[in-house]
Amino acid sequence: MAGEQPQRDAATGTVCPECDKQTIRGSDKCHHCGAPVDSGETISLAMWEYGGGLIAAFGFFMTPVITGLPALYCAYKVYDRSPNSAYGIFAVFISTIIFWIVLPTVILP
Ligand SMILES: [Zn+2]
Repeated sequence: MAGEQPQRDAATGTVCPECDKQTIRGSDKCHHCGAPVDSGETISLAMWEYGGGLIAAFGFFMTPVITGLPALYCAYKVYDRSPNSAYGIFAVFISTIIFWIVLPTVILP
């Protein structure tokens, strides 16, 4: 009833001003026509996706012990809206774990 921003729906995102279709919540770009939309969120979906991937990749330098929690948090934040990005972040995170197991046991000795 508090209709300050009637076009905004927390569950489905905003309505694209160009094509009038629902956008993905938190996304700053319409996935129908590519027009920029106001995501209504301080940190956009793309930021969580790229940030999560970047943090997960840093696990190769800083060990997944440090990067694991923030990377998985980013994956959790994007999972319901962009599952493939969440799987991607998770895959990179798993790779860093394997890397840090293989490095001291196989490569270094
Ligand atoms: Zn659109």
